Amino acid sequence: MLLEAIRSTVIETARRARRDRLVHSTFGNFSIRDRDTGYVCITPSGLDYDSLTPSDIVVVDLDGRTVDGNRRPSIETPLHTEVYKRRKDVMAVVHTHSAYATAWACCRKDVPVVLAEVAAAAGGPIKCAPYRPMGSSELAVVTADALGDSAIVLMASHGVLAVGPTMDSAYNNAVIAEEGARIALYANLIGEAVAISEEECVSLVRIARDKYGQDA
Ligand code: 13P
Ligand code: ZN
Repeated sequence: MLLEAIRSTVIETARRARRDRLVHSTFGNFSIRDRDTGYVCITPSGLDYDSLTPSDIVVVDLDGRTVDGNRRPSIETPLHTEVYKRRKDVMAVVHTHSAYATAWACCRKDVPVVLAEVAAAAGGPIKCAPYRPMGSSELAVVTADALGDSAIVLMASHGVLAVGPTMDSAYNNAVIAEEGARIALYANLIGEAVAISEEECVSLVRIARDKYGQDA
C-alpha cells in the first residue's frame, strides 16, 4: 500500500487527539506530507477514528486530487494543501476543535501572549482568522493568511490549526494552543495578565529553535 507507515501515523495521531480531548467526535483532521512524493496523507471525512485502518486514509496531491484511497478526504483538505503549498517547512498539519482555544475563537479574539510556550510557538499572540464556512477554499485562504510564519492560528467560531516540521511537533503545537488559551483565560480572570514583549517573543522563538529538545 502507498505510504502505509505514514497513513498509520495519521490514524494514531487522530486517536491520540481524541484521547487528549483536543477533538470531539470526528471534528478535527490530521495530515502528513511525504517528503519523497510530496503527497499528503489525510484523514477521511466524518469517519470514527476508532474504526480507521490505513486504507481509509486518503493520499492526495497538493491540488487535492486523490492519488490513492476510496474514502472522501477531509472536508478541510483545501486548508491543509493551502498551508503545504505556502510553507515548505511544514510537513504535518493538525486541525482541532479543542475547547479553550475554540472559546477564544468563538469570541473572534486573538489569544494574548502571556505564556512562554505560546510566545515560542506563535512568536506573539495566537491570531484569530476571520470567519468563513467550514471546508471552503475561502477558509483555507484566510486561515493560511492569518497563520503566516506562525505554528498556530485560531479559526473564528470553529477551532485551531497547528503545523510543524513533524507530526510530533504539529501535535505539540496544538497542545500549546489549547494550554495557552486555558492559561490566558485564567490569567485574565485573576487580572492584570502581563503580555510578553515583542522582543522577548523573538528571543523565546530562538531559544525553542536552538536549545529546546534534542537534535534530529
Ligand atoms: P472532516 O471530518 O471532514 O475532516 O471535518 C471535520 C472538521 O473539523 C471540519 O472543519
Ligand atoms: Zn473543523
